[in-house]
Amino acid sequence: MLVKPITPCRFYQDVCPLDRGRRCPYKSFMKLLAIDTSCDDSCVAILETDTFHLLADVVHSHIKAMAAYGGVVPELASRQHLKALPLALDEALTQASLTLNQIDYIVVTHRPGLIGALLVGVSYAKSLAYALGKPLSVLNHLEAHLLSPFLARTQNQNPPPLPWIALVVSGGHTELFRVEENLTHHWLGGTLDDAAGEAFDKIGKLLGLPYPAGPVIDKWVREEATREDRTRFKIPRPQTSEFSFSFSGLKTHVRQIAQRPDFQATDTLALIASAQEAILGSLVKKLRDTKALYPHHHTVVTGGVACNCRLRELLPEAYFPAPRHCTDNAAMVAALGALHHERGTLAPAPLNCSALSR
Ligand code: ADP
Ligand code: MG
Repeated sequence: MLVKPITPCRFYQDVCPLDRGRRCPYKSFMKLLAIDTSCDDSCVAILETDTFHLLADVVHSHIKAMAAYGGVVPELASRQHLKALPLALDEALTQASLTLNQIDYIVVTHRPGLIGALLVGVSYAKSLAYALGKPLSVLNHLEAHLLSPFLARTQNQNPPPLPWIALVVSGGHTELFRVEENLTHHWLGGTLDDAAGEAFDKIGKLLGLPYPAGPVIDKWVREEATREDRTRFKIPRPQTSEFSFSFSGLKTHVRQIAQRPDFQATDTLALIASAQEAILGSLVKKLRDTKALYPHHHTVVTGGVACNCRLRELLPEAYFPAPRHCTDNAAMVAALGALHHERGTLAPAPLNCSALSR
């Protein structure tokens, strides 16, 4: 459904639709620069608040550097961010045809993620904010994934109507949330061990696939596996309590099958297809069980694993953001900043340090 075109200052003149009855205190729309360095992607985006016009969306992935190690090496990710972040910023400014001085506000994710990688992004954003004399806010990477369906507004579309049951499923997270109409969210549960994306990557690694294995498995199974391949190996589905997930046992089971003396290299595709079906089946079951408890909530799936074509096929009732905005990106961080701006909750972070814990 298309939304009506948004005119500047709409939320100042009208009542903010997200906050029923409250007036947005901001007068004009701003050019928001967003930075995300939570893992192994150096991401910069520029978004105009109020119009949700996405002016730049740049992701410099570290996959090449990590491929040799078959996974993310935290120290290497920090060093890659040091090199890639200034390049990503230059590229974003070029895409947006802006100079740094035309940026009004800076937002950066400060949690959760690899601490060294986050520190590079936060230090970089602080230096920029200090040098330019612009305000800076810190935002939560997981909240950015969670509310990434609002990026639909960049295409003049609406996100699915609130409230939502939302699953954030990525390389580092498998977390289930309830998102209410006023955008407050409640964590319902998450994985007890590995994240679903991590299970994809680790299973791929043990079967000799390149990193990150999630997209490789998705493509290989989609193009070459038969329906029978998907169920040829019986992989136990984790039996966890209400809103929790577990993928560690499933991964071990795959390894045990691959180590059987009668296992042939030609069985690899069927084993991978069966493993994918087991991982996705467990996500789908949890989501449907949760949805049964909240029948009026829409189902939303975000995070890297939400790119998976088979998952999208298994959950036709769910809303998935565009694949580019499922994996790590700064556009979702900018959108989160814009939402906070709309609601008057975009609080500038102090640039000073403190030795005290509170
Ligand atoms: P994180 O925030 O944890 O770094 P991302 O949101 O960038 O993770 O997602 C990366 C994860 O998503 C990786 O584990 C990757 O294997 C997985 N992934 C990406 N695309 C697919 C896909 N098509 N199918 C399954 N998993 C995928
Ligand atoms: Mg992520």
